[in-house]
Amino acid sequence: MAIDKAMIQAALEEAWDEGRNVLYEGKVADYIPELAKADSSNLGVCLMRKDGTVCTVGDYNIPFTMQSISKTMALILALQTAGYDKVFSKIGMEPTGDRFDSILQLELKDWRPFNPMINAGAIVTTSCIETPDPFQSFLDLARSLCGNPKIRLNECVYRSEKRTGTRNRSIAFLLKSDHVLDGEPEEILDVYFRMCSVMVTAKDLAHYGMILSNHGVDPATGKQLVDSRIVRIVVTLMMLCGMYDESGEYAVKVGLPSKSGVGGGIVALARQGVGIGTFGPKLNKKGNSVGGEKIMQVVSEKLGLHVFDTKTF
Ligand code: GLN
Repeated sequence: MAIDKAMIQAALEEAWDEGRNVLYEGKVADYIPELAKADSSNLGVCLMRKDGTVCTVGDYNIPFTMQSISKTMALILALQTAGYDKVFSKIGMEPTGDRFDSILQLELKDWRPFNPMINAGAIVTTSCIETPDPFQSFLDLARSLCGNPKIRLNECVYRSEKRTGTRNRSIAFLLKSDHVLDGEPEEILDVYFRMCSVMVTAKDLAHYGMILSNHGVDPATGKQLVDSRIVRIVVTLMMLCGMYDESGEYAVKVGLPSKSGVGGGIVALARQGVGIGTFGPKLNKKGNSVGGEKIMQVVSEKLGLHVFDTKTF
C-alpha cells in the first residue's frame, strides 16, 4: 500500500510527541559558548519526498548551526575537487567507537584519521578541498543541496568556536606534525569552523536528505547536483559513522544513513527519494540530539523505513 501524506503527517506527529517526552534526558552543548544560548525546548521535524510531498511538525523552520553535518558536504566537495584516491590516501573509512573529537587513535593506531565524519577526519577533508575559496564553494554547495539560496554563516557561533576551539587546534597540529595535513593548520581550521557555523533548518536538512536519496539529482530541475558515485560513498559513511560512537546502536534502532551535529540537527535519508531533517538542541552524552534520535526511530518504525525492513515506502 502506498503511503499517503496523511499517514506521514500522523507518523511525524506521534514521533514528535515521543521526542518531546525524552527531552529531559538531554543537555544543550556548551563547550562552544555560543551554542549554550539555544532554546532547549525546541523540537522540529520535516520529511520531504521527491514527488514534492512536505510534512512538518514543531520547530522545523528555526535556523541552527550545522556543526558536524557540514562534514558530509565537505566530503562531497573534497571528492569532487581532489578525487577519491587523494582523499582516501589521507583519511580512512572505518568507524572508531571513540568520541567525535578524540585524538587517541591518531597516536595509537594510524596516522590517518579513521573516517571523515569525526573531527580529525573532517579537518583533513577540509584541507583536501581544491577550490580558490573553499568556504564559498561550501556555501554554494550547501545552498543547492538544501534548496535554500538564503543559507548563511552564523558569525557569532563561528567566532565563538574559533576563540575556544583548543581541542580541534590540538588535532590539527598533531596531524600537521605527522604530515597528514598539508597547508597551514590555522587557515584550514578557519574554513572548518566556518563550515560548522553555517545555519540550516530541519526543512533544509530534509531537502538535503531527499537529494542524497535521489542519487544526487534535484527532482525539481532534473539537475545532477552531485555525482551518484560520490553520493554512494558519503551515504555509506553516514550509515557507518554518522552518529559518532553511537552509530551501531542507532543503525539497529533507526536503520537510516544519518548525520548529526552538536547544534542539534540530524539529517537522514530513506530509500526512494525520502529525506528527513530534525532539530532539537538537547544532546545525549555522545553529542546526538535526544529528541531528534527519538523522532527518527519512531518515524522509521511507523513508516517501515529501516534499510533492512521488508516493507517498502
Ligand atoms: N564544530 C564542532 C566541533 O568541531 C562540531 C562537532 C560536532 O558537531 N560533533 O567540535
